Amino acid sequence: MILDGKALSKKILDEIKVEVTKLDKKPHLAVILVGNDPASRIYVNNKKKTALNIGINSTVIELPEDTKEEVLIEHIKKLNNDDTVTGILVQMPLPKHINKDNVVCAIDPKKDVDCFTPENVGKLSLGMKPYFYPVTPQGILIMLDYYKIPIEGQHVVVIGRSNIVGKPMVQMLLQRNATVTVCHSHTKNLDDIIKTADIIISAVGKKVVRCKMVKYKSVLVDVGISRDTNGKLTGDLNFSDFKDINEILDFVEAFSPVPGGVGPMTIASLMLNTLLIEHTGILSRIAKSGLE
Ligand code: NAP
Repeated sequence: MILDGKALSKKILDEIKVEVTKLDKKPHLAVILVGNDPASRIYVNNKKKTALNIGINSTVIELPEDTKEEVLIEHIKKLNNDDTVTGILVQMPLPKHINKDNVVCAIDPKKDVDCFTPENVGKLSLGMKPYFYPVTPQGILIMLDYYKIPIEGQHVVVIGRSNIVGKPMVQMLLQRNATVTVCHSHTKNLDDIIKTADIIISAVGKKVVRCKMVKYKSVLVDVGISRDTNGKLTGDLNFSDFKDINEILDFVEAFSPVPGGVGPMTIASLMLNTLLIEHTGILSRIAKSGLE
């Protein structure tokens, strides 16, 4: 089975569009972009385009590379106090001279749609409900749930321990009663560990998972994004030992492709957060109607 994040995210966005028309006050996502990182600019433009397409207001504040930390924080404070703004996102990475932690701490946790602030991260770690769940792990769980992949009691190996993906993924999996192993660049015998996984979630940015080494019928979720030698977008899963897609689909239970898997789910998940209402209605409607 291919975990089709592209089709599922489209369905979610269509449903959000309908929900937005019912709201008196439109959600408003404000994104701050500091500097000239081309990849960040593409991500920010995609978020803005997606928001506008589904009726969510979106403002992008672009600041020059040499912006002082205090100036950036002033912008955040203004957005915190602006009642028309419902979600604030500061695009990472920030230029080196800016202390990321100070910036994150300045965001109002009630508008922290990325779940970066200590209050939201702390709540997540304590098993309390944060104002928002982190977008990529939330998108992954929505995708696994849609495809009816069981999580409770499964051994999930998470590769990568970043604050954006790996760590919050672990917390959310623990809350779903998975048994979780976390791997990173110092992990010894990665191949031996991934052999024991029912589900592998890889968020590294390098081809670290040799899929012929995984357990038969395991589920593979590819978060990684990198470019191959031909400049083509690729993920962490290395399928080069397989003859063709049929051989892959015979061997694994399911996998998410790159592109078209976790990436679109992350955007859909961000839009769900920005909508500021409970997602359960939207997701159960989709579960019933399918992706057609
Ligand atoms: P990150 O902060 O760079 O973290 C990468 C993690 O991979 C680190 O924990 C690192 O270990 C670990 N690692 C590096 N080499 C390894 C190896 N050989 N074996 C095992 N672990 C290794 O990255 P991130 O922000 O989490 O992003 C990870 C990847 O996911 C990137 O390709 C990024 O573009 C992509 N991403 C995709 C989405 C999406 O929506 N699809 C969202 C976010 C990120 P240490 O901690 O020991 O350094």
